[in-house]
Amino acid sequence: MGSPIKKIDRIIERPARPGMVGDGFRVYNYIPGAGISQQRISPFLMLDFNAEFDFGPSEHVRGVDVHPHKGFETVTIAYQGSVAHHDSAGNSGIIRPGDVQWMTAGGGILHKEYHEQEFSRKGGPFEMVQLWVNLPKKDKLTPAHYQALGKEALGKVLLPDGKGEVNVIAGTFNGVRGPAQTYSPVHVYDIKLKKGGRIETSLPANYHTALLMIKGKAEVNGEPAAEHAFVLFADEGERIGLRADEDSVILLLSGEPIDEPIASYGPFVMNTQAEIMDSIREFQQGKFGQLD
Ligand code: MN
Repeated sequence: MGSPIKKIDRIIERPARPGMVGDGFRVYNYIPGAGISQQRISPFLMLDFNAEFDFGPSEHVRGVDVHPHKGFETVTIAYQGSVAHHDSAGNSGIIRPGDVQWMTAGGGILHKEYHEQEFSRKGGPFEMVQLWVNLPKKDKLTPAHYQALGKEALGKVLLPDGKGEVNVIAGTFNGVRGPAQTYSPVHVYDIKLKKGGRIETSLPANYHTALLMIKGKAEVNGEPAAEHAFVLFADEGERIGLRADEDSVILLLSGEPIDEPIASYGPFVMNTQAEIMDSIREFQQGKFGQLD
């Protein structure tokens, strides 16, 4: 534990207004919308946070209709409420609270995401994160596939005295491994701390590292982080200590930067503008498959 403390670059407040993705996801966009460029936070490309919101009961199933993705991975983390999905490769599933879906869009896929029918009928609090993780150039055209990471499959670290838990989605936390197979080194943790709960860990100095306060309040290396704050660490130092001032839920991300050019156009993330143009053409020609 002699390693230097990881410095905080800045603490960013929740963006003022949410935006709608389709009619089912009411999201605050932190990456890149809150001034965090895709290069600065590489390999992470996008982070949308549907902060807790009750859409109310509905017979109409809310969501986002058929859309493409190419060149990266989408990671959906369900905190409250359930999401169903279908894709052009014939896959489908339900992501329930505590579950994670890690989708490698790779060479291209069509999919749709919407509130699971039963949840939609009953209504209730909905809380979700969607994170996009870039693929290295050599893996961008890998065939699309999913990893359905049920909550029981996540790596689990329990704190003494019931003070909380760390669910390891990807990478390792203090030696405990998460199940996600990734194309570049990435750590993603779903951290739940009771008031007064503390954890400490170390992450490589050069990894781009950040955390989002999903719920609660905590001290992050001694700095106060309010609910919905996004803490962006500097690429300096290794050690991170968290102490919850209230019962808290924290999403921590850390990844080795992918040092390659990024050409990004909506749901396509490639390395050059020419590849983006090709991707749009492929999509228009129906090469991503068929989904109704
Ligand atoms: Mn999508």
